[in-house]
Amino acid sequence: MSTLYRFLYLLSFVLILTFACGTHMSAQVTQAGWMKESQAKLEKELTAKFGETQQQRIQKGLAQVAEFWHPEDGDAVVFEDFIRTNFAGDQATLDVMFNRFENLLEQLYGHMNEINLAFRQQSDLDLGTIYPFDETFAGYSPGAHITDDFFKNKLAFIVLLNFPLTTLEERLTKGEQWSRRQWAEVRLAYQFSKRIPAEVNQAVSEAASEADQYISEYNIYMHHLVDANGNRLFPPHMRLLSHWNLRDELKADYNDKENGDAKQKLIQKVMEQIVAQSIPEIVVNNPNVDWNPVTNKVMLTTAKDLDVPLKTDLRVSNDPEPDTRYAILLKTFVASKKVDPYSPTAPTLIARRFDENREIPETRVKAMLESVVHSPLVPKVAKIIEKRLGRSLEPYDIWYNGFRAKGKYTEAQLDEIVKKRYPTPDAYKADMPNLLMNLGFSKDRAQYLANNILVDPARGSGHAAGAAMRSAKAHLRTRVGKDGMDYKGFNIAIHEMGHNVEQTLSLNEMDYYILSGVPNTAFTEAIAFVFQAHDLDLLGLSTADPQGDALKTLNDFWMTYEIAGVSLVDMEIWHWMYDHPDAKPLECKSAMLQIAKDIWNKYYAPVFKKKDVALLAIYSHIIHSFLYIPDYAIGHLISHQIDEQIKKGSSVGVEVERMVKSGNIAPDLWMKNATGFPLGSEAILNATERALKEYKK
Ligand SMILES: [Zn+2]
Repeated sequence: MSTLYRFLYLLSFVLILTFACGTHMSAQVTQAGWMKESQAKLEKELTAKFGETQQQRIQKGLAQVAEFWHPEDGDAVVFEDFIRTNFAGDQATLDVMFNRFENLLEQLYGHMNEINLAFRQQSDLDLGTIYPFDETFAGYSPGAHITDDFFKNKLAFIVLLNFPLTTLEERLTKGEQWSRRQWAEVRLAYQFSKRIPAEVNQAVSEAASEADQYISEYNIYMHHLVDANGNRLFPPHMRLLSHWNLRDELKADYNDKENGDAKQKLIQKVMEQIVAQSIPEIVVNNPNVDWNPVTNKVMLTTAKDLDVPLKTDLRVSNDPEPDTRYAILLKTFVASKKVDPYSPTAPTLIARRFDENREIPETRVKAMLESVVHSPLVPKVAKIIEKRLGRSLEPYDIWYNGFRAKGKYTEAQLDEIVKKRYPTPDAYKADMPNLLMNLGFSKDRAQYLANNILVDPARGSGHAAGAAMRSAKAHLRTRVGKDGMDYKGFNIAIHEMGHNVEQTLSLNEMDYYILSGVPNTAFTEAIAFVFQAHDLDLLGLSTADPQGDALKTLNDFWMTYEIAGVSLVDMEIWHWMYDHPDAKPLECKSAMLQIAKDIWNKYYAPVFKKKDVALLAIYSHIIHSFLYIPDYAIGHLISHQIDEQIKKGSSVGVEVERMVKSGNIAPDLWMKNATGFPLGSEAILNATERALKEYKK
């Protein structure tokens, strides 16, 4: 995603976290008694001065300012003086104001971004020791107080007085008729659509960090899981974080011909005990005990697989975890709800997520997800999986990952080829124009893009940092070992280059700065994945498996089927919490189990032939990510839709350059411009249908 977008997203994310929904704004901030009178007086006065054509703007602007005006912003005299001074009542003045804000915000966001990049340089790049003060620099956020400052110095009020706040409904029904400038004005106003008190923000970030903490320490010591005979199926030292590592181990166990099934069954049992909170509290993150997840029996461990001294004086019991998982989830809800009164155009966390972050109505997201989980293609793909596994499906097979193309080259051969080609980051940088030309960019455009992308040696695996002003450059961070770049590094570099190309074009080539970027992260990820999929072509190596495309599609479809169900659970539980604002953890747990089982029974039981499974509720994001999961599912749909269009089009280069010109407008409009259709699940369903035809047993 472009940095501006990321920057704004982070800002709005903080706001979202802090906010939750509810009735209408001004619950906490009661409007001063004089406000209504002042508004009426000024509406009359300004209409007389600027004419009837401006009356609607005047009315709306006054209401928007009044909505956010606090007593400490000034009394009636200050308010009236502010309005008279700052209302732009004719087009020429409004143009000057709009252009100035756009230019100056580019300077502000652009430089903030450069400061951020500089402050993070030591920790992001492979530049030697990170000292404690480097970490403090990296954690500092120079833009954290912009919104506060802009309300205090009233620049935010000037925006609110002159540019319209909109609802998702308006953006969806009228957005197609809006000019580019109207869209830019809408995006400008949105940045000041919330004024959350510091203590509310604080409450949200406290709930968020408590939830993060709870999740980040939720490890299971796998060597300490025992079966009825005391056998340990998992190797020593294995400590898995729920749910990510548990799920990934489960996936890896498909390759264990001997014990894979037994290990997977045990992991499923662990997950079910976590969701139901019947897991003994003492086994969480504790290598001192052994646990049989089937009988729930706990005992002091006899395994000494860790270098830590074991506690022998422990009081061992299998008392269950006291519903902490749901207490934590409820705390994120209670904190989110505090934001509601300060977010007039999206007064619940659910609305902020769907109407603001995603800009796709919840009902449409739900319909798209249901069209996948309910698709007649599911049982067909399930049949193939059963055949490949040689057994009937188990509930944990929602994580089946056995669709993989067989490569023609070994990883070692690929490493050798890449290392020879790219011994240093500079060698990669020098080759970038060629790589881009091979993707279909013209010679000029390839050179132009390469000139705007710097290549840095990453400390971690790699990432793309876009610029946030047109005078700055994007950074491609990639890992290059002492003996050169390996294949994995190259594969990531191509992905990041996809981000950088999108970032550069959607910033530098945009008609309005304020529209730079893409609608949301899923769009830039989709573009990056398209680039990444061409990595072998770019090395001049023919694609390995003629079935590769079909297998990849079947894999994507199955992953989408899984995450769509998890998304539906995530959405349902937030509705349940809003419907039961005073719920206790036990009630929340019962609701979660019921929701997960209902969704399973409706969309998964007919395929898996097993009822009442609660596995979908295991995702940690449901507990600590404030309704984030649907983004993953939507991401798969977006990705396929973009991919299909690029396959139909002339080349990656030409299509991407055309697509990103829309900038940060509503996702459906972006997608219509890009592919001719609004966002939907048709592309992935059509691709899966084709893949099923191409698939050879
Ligand atoms: Zn990415």
